Amino acid sequence: MARKTALQERLDDIRQRISDAAAKARRDAAEITLVAVTKTATPEAVREILQLGVLDLGESRMQVLAQRAGMMNELMARRAALGELPVPKPRWHMVGHLQRNKVRSVLPLVHLVHSVDSLRLAEEIDSAAARLGKPASVLLQVNAAEEAQKFGCAVGAAVHLAEQLDSMPNVQLCGLMTMAPFVAGESAVRQCFSRTRELFEEMRWHKIGGNRLRHLSMGMSNDFEWAIAEGATMVRLGSALFGGEGDHTEDPPET
Ligand SMILES: *Cc1c(COP(=O)(O)O)cnc(C)c1O
Repeated sequence: MARKTALQERLDDIRQRISDAAAKARRDAAEITLVAVTKTATPEAVREILQLGVLDLGESRMQVLAQRAGMMNELMARRAALGELPVPKPRWHMVGHLQRNKVRSVLPLVHLVHSVDSLRLAEEIDSAAARLGKPASVLLQVNAAEEAQKFGCAVGAAVHLAEQLDSMPNVQLCGLMTMAPFVAGESAVRQCFSRTRELFEEMRWHKIGGNRLRHLSMGMSNDFEWAIAEGATMVRLGSALFGGEGDHTEDPPET
């Protein structure tokens, strides 16, 4: 047996922690998707994690996502041309704030946009998706933290906004996303997650999004076990997998 790489060991550890947290909450770990946020990952690490079977990759900046997706496509084409073993195809998740003028270029590359937080952004996505001839899967980002955060719609506005997204022909609302306050104790963090979960239940009660409304994207490297306890179906992990300081600034530089 070859020795495990550092990344492999970290991934094993994370998978164990996900399954322990799920068991503790009497949930099935199979309903929790690990999204590997590749912000701090080297290109080699991105390739390696795909080969280790993690196909859901996230980026918070649209330019980086586009670059990485392009690189992976080239790599796959090169391997195919050489008759080499293919690298699995990633599903890209846009987890960071999305500027409206970037929608048209990023949409063809992404599997799921986690960060829709306004009607205007959703309208832009709806029309870009119509042009592409492919409906866009999105999550509504909710600002459920007590502290003032820049992005995410207000809790009080979420249900109405969800209804509006749901009525758009080329937008498929698949759930909610939230970010907990980064420096906060367990109770504040869990309250943010449980509030998002309550909103999610309320939307399901009103049948917003129909059967598609299935996802709660919440939990990062430092709080994903609490998020799983509160019902997360997607956890977005960066630094726990790839090391480095997670960059949690919500305000990407203008590009
Ligand atoms: C960076 C980032 C993550 C991952 O954060 P880590 O603490 O490194 O796990 C998750 N979600 C969003 C929106 C991010 O910007």
